[in-house]
Amino acid sequence: MARKQKRIYLFEEGKAEMRMLLGNKGANLAEMTNLGLPVPPGFTITTEVCREYYRNGGKLPEGLMDEVRQYMTKVEKKVGRKFGDPENPLLVSVRSGAPASMPGMMDTILNLGLNDQTVQGLIKQTNDERFAYDAYRRFVQMFGDIVMGVDREEFEHILNELKARRAKELGKDPKEVRDTDLTTEDLKEAVQRFKALIRERTGRDFPDDPWQQLEMAIEAVFKSWNNPRAISYRRINNIPHDLGTAVNVQTMVFGNMGWDSGTGVGFTRDPATGKPGLYADYLPNAQGEDVVAGIRTPMDIQWLAQNMPNIYEELLSYAKRLEEHYKDMQDIEFTVEKGKLYILQTRTGKRTGIAAIRIAVDMVHEGLITPDDAVLMVDARLLEQLLYPQFEEAALKQAKRIAKGIAASPGAAAGRVVFTSDDAVEWAKRGERVILVRHMTSPDDIEGMHAAQGILTSEGGRTSHAAVVARAMGKTCVVGCRDIFIDYANKQFTVNGTVVKEGDYISIDGTNGVVYLGDVPVVPSEIIRVITGEMKPEESELYRYYAEFMSWVDERRKLGVQANADKPEEARLARLLGAEGIGLARTEHMFFAPERLPYFQQLILADDPKEREEAMAKILPFQREDFYGLLKEMDGLPVIIRLLDPPLHEFLPHTEQEARELAERLGKPFEEIWAKTVRLHEHNPMLGHRGCRLGVTFPEIYRMQVRAIMEAACQLKKEGYNPKPKIEIPLVGHVNELIVTRRDAEEVAEQVIAETGVRVDYMIGTMIEVPRACITADQIAKFADFFSFGTNDLTQTVFGFSRDDVEGKFMADYLEEVPGKEGTPILKANPFEVLDREGVGELMRICVQKARSVKPDLEIGICGEHGGEPNSVWFCHEIGLNYVSCSAFRIPVARLAAAQAAVREKKEAEKKAAARRRRKEVVEIRD
Ligand code: PEP
Ligand code: MG
Repeated sequence: MARKQKRIYLFEEGKAEMRMLLGNKGANLAEMTNLGLPVPPGFTITTEVCREYYRNGGKLPEGLMDEVRQYMTKVEKKVGRKFGDPENPLLVSVRSGAPASMPGMMDTILNLGLNDQTVQGLIKQTNDERFAYDAYRRFVQMFGDIVMGVDREEFEHILNELKARRAKELGKDPKEVRDTDLTTEDLKEAVQRFKALIRERTGRDFPDDPWQQLEMAIEAVFKSWNNPRAISYRRINNIPHDLGTAVNVQTMVFGNMGWDSGTGVGFTRDPATGKPGLYADYLPNAQGEDVVAGIRTPMDIQWLAQNMPNIYEELLSYAKRLEEHYKDMQDIEFTVEKGKLYILQTRTGKRTGIAAIRIAVDMVHEGLITPDDAVLMVDARLLEQLLYPQFEEAALKQAKRIAKGIAASPGAAAGRVVFTSDDAVEWAKRGERVILVRHMTSPDDIEGMHAAQGILTSEGGRTSHAAVVARAMGKTCVVGCRDIFIDYANKQFTVNGTVVKEGDYISIDGTNGVVYLGDVPVVPSEIIRVITGEMKPEESELYRYYAEFMSWVDERRKLGVQANADKPEEARLARLLGAEGIGLARTEHMFFAPERLPYFQQLILADDPKEREEAMAKILPFQREDFYGLLKEMDGLPVIIRLLDPPLHEFLPHTEQEARELAERLGKPFEEIWAKTVRLHEHNPMLGHRGCRLGVTFPEIYRMQVRAIMEAACQLKKEGYNPKPKIEIPLVGHVNELIVTRRDAEEVAEQVIAETGVRVDYMIGTMIEVPRACITADQIAKFADFFSFGTNDLTQTVFGFSRDDVEGKFMADYLEEVPGKEGTPILKANPFEVLDREGVGELMRICVQKARSVKPDLEIGICGEHGGEPNSVWFCHEIGLNYVSCSAFRIPVARLAAAQAAVREKKEAEKKAAARRRRKEVVEIRD
């Protein structure tokens, strides 16, 4: 006969590794029990029983309740109370707990075991009739709602009626009457009316028999595994539907049994700063719900230290034990019942970036973890927080929130509203802090963006111009804020009825997209102050932690980390933040400065090569100066300079008025300029005349740029520097595009070397941004010294999504961010943010393989926005890229993500080696 499977485990019979069988909560309770922590006793019914329940067509397995009775007897013995005993009743909670975390998705029932008789026993135990009836009415309410399916609003309605009556007697406004104002008599009445309501709505009596209550509750928890909310949560989070949930039946403890009781929540270290020491709130004579519902304001844990020092010391010792065991900071929940401490819950605590670093470093010094563990422990994305200014926390609480957009570039910025780039520059010159507010930004707005504290746009998404440029500049930016309606003519915007005029203060949070009215004070980043020399390293404790942590990071990573930076000052910051080169300098921004744009426009609109040459000669010195600055700043490190890429029309006049002005400046008839402008207009500019196509049709532009790069480099070399220029051709899809542009570039580079008599080593490579380039990478690699994945365009061209449009239009629907449309996620993440491994990533993998099949040492990097996103960086490590490149402020994130990929790989390899060793030993023993 098959051995009967164990269906129920006392907490002391389980352990953490039994998560699949006992669920997260059950395994956790077991682990804590076995650590010797005072967990209220109980047992777990396994997930296998849940699966059996469903296999049985929704029926509890035969004999289950007999087993439950046996286990209940064991619990009764431990606590000295009996389930259902009218004299001294044991009350329990019944909670769900799946193997994967599904917060709030399934059901919980508290105070189970109460009826008209046992409530008398509870009064005897507690000497508190009001407390007992309050517990009773809460139980009937929860049970009626969760198990018997009566709408929770109907119970609230009855409670409100009772409160209204109480209000009259107290002469108060009904809104001011709280649950705590209800008397014992009110609560007794509530119980009776709740029961009557249940009978009326379900045609069934509320079960008075505690065993029947328990059976129904267990079944309800199993049922809740398949409630619609749980199903969609699993679908979104990729949790298999057949795991099932466990059921935890646990002795109730009460924190509201007088002043020697209470309830607390807290962290084993400060989650904001990481400082060691218990960081918790405590509320005497209260239940956890009171804290959560904000009915009473909790006190600092020092209250416990002063009033119940023994309990406090005991709590500290458990906090320590939990940290030693889980090797991480814990978020705990505890209850004191009549002078006895119970630990109810522990889990890894959430923390800020500052705290994450400090905790990791402290724990290594305390000998709790290794540097490898420390590297894996910190969420890489949190590092960005350390570099940006933040709002003062206290001030933020008072601030008036007016809108929310897409968080595009983190940090906090406050200033006066301006609506044009010119005004931003103008006002900033006067010493004003400004926020530039636009529908969208364009390359013309660069100067204004630079001058502003932050940028707010009503349209666009995470890879829109504003977002990309702001990130590169390290400027706070919120985009796609559809709540605001901008009226440029009247220099104001409206948002839900509020009118914000030019000159009014607003504050924007680029980390969560929130917009506030008014001037919220901002605190600068300490790390940035230290690395830029504004503050001494020894004055900053935070910096010391950061520096030590980052040294472990850099010792471990294999991927290089470079920066996307266009200007010398961006390059300087990037270098200070750890960039080992420039992985992308976009040259187009250099053309928009007011003193340069007309020449460039002349170049595009030139009638003949001579005029073009003239315009070029004017632009060349500017470009040389740009590249000189950049290469000098990055002396000794590689700098990839990409030749002109954006659609031509971006440089042309947008209105007739602008065309007239340009015509005047160039001394040409307006009609001619306008006709050419119209001719150059494109329907799909992103798929149009851009990238290397410009180099093919206007070879002079690329030749001029290469000349400027090489002249700058040769000059620097002459001055004793060590420039390492790398010339990059964008948007190549066919090898011939590279062949012709490369031939020109090489010719010019060699010319400059010959002219100056200085040899500077240079490389010529290409961006990989269209699927055809990936598929034909073996052909292209033959003519390239390096590859760099432009995954912004590659994502655009692989999906066929316009990178400038998706976010305002359909991306929210695809990601299920639209209320009421939950349950049908098409994409798990925005592919412009997190690299799409299956599509874009697969093409990258193919590209790397093909390219290295002809050039095994070909250097390959990435410079799309994904280069600073942890998940994408891990992928880049996996497919064997040499480096990632990202905006300056994401460099520490990329460094850490790269180290994490390397540590994980090492740990995997160690695991495999150990398994191999074990197999070998087994073979030897057998032999
Ligand atoms: C890219 O396409 O990923 C890229 C880096 O180039 P840009 O964003 O300038 O098109
Ligand atoms: Mg691109």
